[in-house]
Amino acid sequence: MKPAPAADDGPDVVVVGAGPVGLVAACELARHGLAVRVIDKLPAPTEESRAIVVHARSLEMFERVGVVDEIIDSGVKSLAMQMYASGRRLARIELGQVDSAFPFTITTPQTETERILTARLNGLGVSIQRGAELTALRQRPGGPASAGTSSSPSRPPARRLSR
Ligand SMILES: Cc1cc2nc3c(=O)[nH]c(=O)nc-3n(C[C@H](O)[C@H](O)[C@H](O)COP(=O)(O)OP(=O)(O)OC[C@H]3O[C@@H](n4cnc5c(N)ncnc54)[C@H](O)[C@@H]3O)c2cc1C
Repeated sequence: MKPAPAADDGPDVVVVGAGPVGLVAACELARHGLAVRVIDKLPAPTEESRAIVVHARSLEMFERVGVVDEIIDSGVKSLAMQMYASGRRLARIELGQVDSAFPFTITTPQTETERILTARLNGLGVSIQRGAELTALRQRPGGPASAGTSSSPSRPPARRLSR
């Protein structure tokens, strides 16, 4: 697949936030040939684990993005969930009954999910602009939205804005 068009002359979409949601959105937009600019106010990716369980629907999305095998290999597959209180089992949920090509969950730290998605995004020709915070947003009916960021307020506006 050819790399996404450069976003320097005015992106089609500005994605605010390079967490899992923003990264998946950016990958999908770039995969479909849109010029994407991704900004994140953090100077570097977080080192906190945060979300640790990737469910079937997310795995389906990751398959579309092209990273599902890497995500699965990065973690531990769970076929069921059990809940306990005071040493007594309250419930067991069989994940194998989920109507999905991925009837299980993957336990993997969010840092890994972000690392894999970022590599995929880079492979699509898009890099993350870090240390850039969206500070203002103006929307006009039928026209382009304009965005101000802390690092580059004079950047061209996006034709659409997404989060
Ligand atoms: C301490 C902690 C522990 C957690 N533990 C769990 C857990 O055990 N299990 C679980 O399922 N979930 C957990 N979560 C929730 C999980 O992290 C979120 O559901 C997940 O990160 C949401 O992904 P996201 O991409 O929407 O947002 P985020 O991962 O929060 O990413 C949003 C990104 O947007 C950036 N951003 C925000 N505003 C701006 C702006 N104005 N301009 C530029 N950039 C901006 C932020 O810097 C951030 O990088 C936890 C969250 C935290 C904070």
